[in-house]
Amino acid sequence: AADPLPPSIQLYGCNIVESPLIFASPLIYWLGALMLFLLISLFFLNKEMRKNQADLDRANRELELRRSIEDSISSAIVITDLENKIVYTNPAAQVITGYSEDELQGKTPPYPFWADTSVLPATLLGDPSKLDPAAFPYRFDLLVRHKDDEQLNVLLLATPFYSSYNEHIGWIYMMRDNTIESQSMNLTNDAIASYQRLLNSVMSCISVVSHKPTGTMLGIHNDHYTEQLGNTADGHLAISRACKIPFNPQGSREAEVWVDSLERWFSITEARVTLPGGSHVTLQSAQDITQRKINEKELEDQTNRMENSSRLITLGEMASTITHEINQPLTAITAYANTAIEVIGNAPEVNRGQVLEIYKKIANQAGRIDKIIKNIRAFAKRRPTTLENVPLANVINDTQELGKLIEKKYAGIRIIYELPKVLPNVLCDPVQIMQILMNLIRNAAEAILEAGCTDRTIAVIAKVGANEVELQVADHGPGISDTMKASLFTPFFSTKKNGLGLGLSTCQTIAESHNTRLRVRDNEGGGTVFVFDLKICS
Ligand code: ADP
Repeated sequence: AADPLPPSIQLYGCNIVESPLIFASPLIYWLGALMLFLLISLFFLNKEMRKNQADLDRANRELELRRSIEDSISSAIVITDLENKIVYTNPAAQVITGYSEDELQGKTPPYPFWADTSVLPATLLGDPSKLDPAAFPYRFDLLVRHKDDEQLNVLLLATPFYSSYNEHIGWIYMMRDNTIESQSMNLTNDAIASYQRLLNSVMSCISVVSHKPTGTMLGIHNDHYTEQLGNTADGHLAISRACKIPFNPQGSREAEVWVDSLERWFSITEARVTLPGGSHVTLQSAQDITQRKINEKELEDQTNRMENSSRLITLGEMASTITHEINQPLTAITAYANTAIEVIGNAPEVNRGQVLEIYKKIANQAGRIDKIIKNIRAFAKRRPTTLENVPLANVINDTQELGKLIEKKYAGIRIIYELPKVLPNVLCDPVQIMQILMNLIRNAAEAILEAGCTDRTIAVIAKVGANEVELQVADHGPGISDTMKASLFTPFFSTKKNGLGLGLSTCQTIAESHNTRLRVRDNEGGGTVFVFDLKICS
């Protein structure tokens, strides 16, 4: 039914069954197809084999890598299932425990290598649903018994073992030999214990407080602190607050402080320290000195009483002289008053000039008595030392007045004054300086008379230096031996029959309150010189 082809196109054809080539027979055809199939299969088989070989190589490499990782890990790894049956151990686990892989495999707690089963990490055996992921890994310090019976301190870290489907299927234990760490920990603990023992042997309250925004915390402190001030930073702070002295540029300070809230005296040393982490702490050493302060106060009171007695003794000894001194102007006053009565009573006319002259004399004598009494009162009055800026000339003048009483009491004694023309102002308590001079003059007078020395002159000498005036009381009496000099200023040392031995020790106490010392030396040509200094004031 096809249209006839155009004449330019000719159609050729042939019968394939009759083809002379490969398709000539069906057997050959099937053989060819089979070969083709075999060729293709061989190709794919080869490809698959190569892929398998690569997978195998990779698996081998991974296995080797895993082995070398396992071999390189120094920590022991033990993996268990949820019943704590050991399913895996690495070589280090076998080294630490001394048991082979086979000996450990399948074991359940208590494992043969756990020395102390009482510290079994029991939490791990509990309900897995109650695990606290935030607490992983659990840490335990355990004692492991090696197969050869040696014991090791081990740090054990335990974490849950999850499958690739995130299912909790067991536990991974990592154990590390902690012996060296625990040895060094023991050494550290020993060092801390020795340090604490040292601190406890100190009889002061030692404490360190740290200053944080949240408050002040008590850190290291010794037993003495706990006994005296308790277990908080309060005691440290109370003492610190009572100290009004500022810290020096090096961050430390020292003081003796009275703590109101504790009603005690403390001698304290404080240092502010910045620790390597940048936090600030204050170290305080506080020694309770309340008893010492009480003793000091008692000693001071005693010294004051001694000084007082010494002064009163001097006055008592001089009482007859004083009476005599006052008696003289009193007799004169009586005489002048009687003359005045006579002049006014008998004369028809009052001679104003004559009466005035008599009254002037009376006033003069009364003034003399007043001066003597004032001097004695000032001398006898008990006062605490008050250093003031006073003209030395005034002190010497008042001494001269009292010196006259001594000259009268000790017959033959003459006091001379070797003074520069101008005397400076000095820092002193004038009455106390007079007391020293009077004591020294009286001692010299007694020594001279007792020894029967011919030279009965006592010299009061002032030598003005750049910053100080040196005051001397020198005599040509019997002198003082070196052995005696050693105990001269000791209270109650006396060579006199009725001597109290308080004079020189009192003078020394007064000299010390004037920041000087009373010294004794031999006088040229025999006798003794007592010396002390007074600071010059502008
Ligand atoms: P007292 O006068 O009560 O003995 P002091 O302390 O004043 O006590 O003196 C102690 C001793 O020092 C005196 O007993 C005396 O032996 C000796 N002494 C003091 N001054 C002199 C002096 N200028 N010359 C010699 N001996 C002195």
